[in-house]
Amino acid sequence: MKFKNPANGHTEDCSAPWLWVLFFGALYLLVAGLWAHVIIYLLIGIVSFASMGPPATVIMILVNLIYAMFAGQIVRNSYMRKGWIEVTHKPITSTSTSISTSESISSAPENKKCPFCAELVKAEAIKCKHCGSELPLIEVKPVEDDDVMEKYGITFDGAYHFGEYQYSKLEDAIRYAKKHR
Ligand SMILES: [Zn+2]
Repeated sequence: MKFKNPANGHTEDCSAPWLWVLFFGALYLLVAGLWAHVIIYLLIGIVSFASMGPPATVIMILVNLIYAMFAGQIVRNSYMRKGWIEVTHKPITSTSTSISTSESISSAPENKKCPFCAELVKAEAIKCKHCGSELPLIEVKPVEDDDVMEKYGITFDGAYHFGEYQYSKLEDAIRYAKKHR
């Protein structure tokens, strides 16, 4: 299991906490800073040894086993309480790669940088949510126009250009280009 502190990006790895509890018992809980559980653990130990004597070892082994069973849950809960998030590292499969690629492709044109405060805002936004500035609209041309534009020598920089002429619509630029080639 891996946990991340969203406040500073710090990550902590705690693999197989059950194994640690199984071998180190209360010592692991102590190192992990799980004070409440250390106290419970010690109390059960003191009470059972005080009442039963040496056979209480059996109780402690049972307690240890129970703690080992719930160690993952206890550790997870303690991180969640601190506001950390669990980072699940799943094996990279073809599906997860394709999802992440399509995400990165689709997320790229959805955002633009606010020229006033340099924060990322939605491409369609006309007002920056961070600083409240009015944003210049970014004209986006469809990618499928590239071929036909190249064919007629039309360029795009927010408007369509053919020679020294400028058009807001690609059809107009093409119509003119067809006549004047
Ligand atoms: Zn801004």
